[in-house]
Amino acid sequence: MIVAMQGKATEENIQQVIERMVELGFNVHRTTGASQTILAGVGTPDHFDVAEFKVLSGVHEAYRISSPYKLAGRSFRPEGTKITFPNGVVVGGEQIILMAGPCSVESREQILTSAKQVAATGAQFLRGGAYKPRSSPYSFQGMGVEGLKLLREVSNETGLLVITEVMEISQIEVMLPYIDCFQVGARNMQNFNLLRELGHVRKPVLMKRGISATIEEVLLSAEYILSGGNYDLILCERGIRTYETYTRNTMDISAIPVLKKLTHLPVFGDPSHGVGIRDLVPPMALASVAAGADGLLMEMHPNPDKAMSDGAQSLYPQQLQALVEQLRKLAPVVGRSIA
Ligand code: PEP
Ligand code: MN
Repeated sequence: MIVAMQGKATEENIQQVIERMVELGFNVHRTTGASQTILAGVGTPDHFDVAEFKVLSGVHEAYRISSPYKLAGRSFRPEGTKITFPNGVVVGGEQIILMAGPCSVESREQILTSAKQVAATGAQFLRGGAYKPRSSPYSFQGMGVEGLKLLREVSNETGLLVITEVMEISQIEVMLPYIDCFQVGARNMQNFNLLRELGHVRKPVLMKRGISATIEEVLLSAEYILSGGNYDLILCERGIRTYETYTRNTMDISAIPVLKKLTHLPVFGDPSHGVGIRDLVPPMALASVAAGADGLLMEMHPNPDKAMSDGAQSLYPQQLQALVEQLRKLAPVVGRSIA
C-alpha cells in the first residue's frame, strides 16, 4: 500500500498513519520529499481497508498495490484453470465451449426440441432455467424440480451436458443429481451465503457478472467459491447496466480480456443477456470470441416468439446454426477451435 501525505500534513498526522500501518502488519518505508511525505507499506496483511487510510488526517491519497483476491488472481495458477466434465469436455483449454438453449425449461416437448437443435450445432451444453429469477413476481417462475428432471432426460438422450441456474442454498442438494454445472445468475453474484455453499460442492460453477458489478467485485465473489475449495469456476460477462437504453444491458467486451489477464479462471461471454436483442447476439458472440472468451452461453428457443421468458433475445435455431459456422471460421484466427 502507498499512502501519499498532503504537503501540509503535520508530523503527528504522519506518525498516526505509520502507527496504523504497523498495527496492521505493514513494514513501513518513509520517503520525505520537498513537497510531501510518501509512506510505502510492504507486506500483505490479511485484513485491511484502503478506504480507512484515505480519510485519516493529513492523507492526500492511499492506494492498494497488492490485489485483494489471492486465489482468483492469475499468479495463483499462471497456466490457467482447465475444468474437465464427466464426458471429457474441457473448459479453459484450446477449444471454445458452447452452451445454448432456452431461457427457461417450459415443457418436455420444448426442451427436447431445443436439445436436439443445440446438439445438432455441435454445442457441448444445454442451458435452460428450472428456477427463474424474474424481475416481477407475477412472471413465469420456472418448472422447478420437474424442469431439472426434463433437462437431465433430454441431455442424456442427446449427449449434452446440463447447466442451469441455482438461486438459493436449499436448491443445491436438489439439483446435484440432475446437473453438470451450476449457474449463478447476475442477481446472485453477491449472494455471499450461496457462493460460500457452492465452494463446498464438488461440481463446476459458472458465475455471471452482477448487473452493476466492477471487475474487482466479480473476482472477490469468485474468491468466495474458491476459498471453499471448489476451483472449478467459470466467470461470465453478461452485460452491465449503463445509461444506454437501446440495448437491454451494455455488453462489456473489454471485461473479457481484462479478466483473462487478472485471473486464471475460464471466462465466457453471454451475448444474449448482454444485448437483449436477437439480431445483435451473433456480432457480440463473435466479438466475445475475438476478445478471448473460452466459451459462450447463449439463448436459443425452437419458437422464440412464443417463449415464456427472454424470447426477444433468443436466437432462432437456424440463427444459432449459422452463428456456430461463423464462429468456426473465426476461432482459428485467435488460435482456438470449435467442435
Ligand atoms: C439467464 O441466464 O437466463 C439469466 C437469468 O441470466 P442473468 O443472471 O445473466 O440475468
Ligand atoms: Mn434469460
